[in-house]
Amino acid sequence: MQQVRHLSIHEYRSAALLKSYGVGVPRGEAARSPEEAYKAAKDLNTNEMVLKAQALTGGRGKGHFDNGLQSGVRLVETPEEVKELSAKMLGHKLITKQTGEAGKIVTAVYVVERKYALTEAYLSIVMDRKNQSTMIIASAQGGMDIEGVAKKDPNAIKKYSVDLEAGVSDDLAFEIASQLGFTKDAIPQGAKTIQTLYQIFKDKDATQIEINPLTETKQHEVMCMDAKFNFDDNAAFRQQEVFSWRDVTQEDPDEVVASKYGLNFIKLNGNVGCLVNGAGLAMATMDVVKLYGGEPANFLDVGGAATPETIEKAFELIITEKNVSAIFVNIFGGIVRCDYVADGLIQATKNLGLKIPVVVRLQGTNFEIAKDMINKSGLKLYVEEDLDEAAKKAVELGGK
Ligand code: GDP
Ligand code: MN
Repeated sequence: MQQVRHLSIHEYRSAALLKSYGVGVPRGEAARSPEEAYKAAKDLNTNEMVLKAQALTGGRGKGHFDNGLQSGVRLVETPEEVKELSAKMLGHKLITKQTGEAGKIVTAVYVVERKYALTEAYLSIVMDRKNQSTMIIASAQGGMDIEGVAKKDPNAIKKYSVDLEAGVSDDLAFEIASQLGFTKDAIPQGAKTIQTLYQIFKDKDATQIEINPLTETKQHEVMCMDAKFNFDDNAAFRQQEVFSWRDVTQEDPDEVVASKYGLNFIKLNGNVGCLVNGAGLAMATMDVVKLYGGEPANFLDVGGAATPETIEKAFELIITEKNVSAIFVNIFGGIVRCDYVADGLIQATKNLGLKIPVVVRLQGTNFEIAKDMINKSGLKLYVEEDLDEAAKKAVELGGK
């Protein structure tokens, strides 16, 4: 389960960022209407182009649209063709392996000059929390299906640990560039590209950069033909430009609402809705619900703010998921008093006219008072002090 939230940005934004650091990217322009796309194609002044749907998902090439159009990455030759296809992409949902049936709405297209790629490699830089460092993952077998490569030929993927402060040495950069399968002519630029990507990663508080494919063109230029960036939400305050690129149309509307209220919302597939305070408690709750044969439907982490307002908002979000047949509240009342939380739970249950059972496990100051309040409320609220008992009951009452 992911506790840290990340911002993702569109490919055309990533490309502009790369370009501003001198990293090779194809010439291109983004457009928000078929007419704009037509003009962008005219400006490129070439008959070898790629039209790319901008939606925050991978696997666009192998995806399809809700109107039947195949592939979010199309080879095109004329501005007319660009205009026609853009009309079929813009405002439509692109469905990929990653989005599932819901798809992601396409709000822009990116028209780029098509360069012939001699090689298609894969390169990513990720945070390696366990070792407090970063890791570079490299494979000469890039292109569309790196997951497939990982399964069939794991040895084709190499991992390099990089010390956050020391960065990527020249030696390491050359080693990785060779691993990526660049020709002799392109290795120096490949090495430089890797070092620059690492610099961007650090400068911009990225949590992940994925270039796939990273290519060498016929002219032996190194080019990033697709880039996916994630940034650490906690760095939003010092990365205002990057965060101004947020596109909320790409986010789950419920998660957008949650973040507005300072709540952390994670959707899963089960039937037990979970409300917790703190990431650690979320993990523990997840484990214990599973232990008793249940599956969490979602998690709402109210953090330190278990006020009546946040609890009500949290319940509201939890029950947007139709599968939820019971709610499990697991709150540690270290800073907040249990009776205050109980009051919030009772109010929220009444205000929302909640019909499903809510099992409440509270711990901390004024537990006895809280228990009494809940028991006397006459609502479908069941209080338990013991974590196992509470989880068992939530699973049982959830009935699935
Ligand atoms: P993804 O499917 O979401 O990862 O989208 P990509 O941007 O990676 O596009 C899928 C595939 O289309 C890539 O693996 C390339 O083979 C090809 N492709 C994408 N962009 C370009 C480009 O600018 N030039 C060329 N020649 N091929 C491209
Ligand atoms: Mn790609």
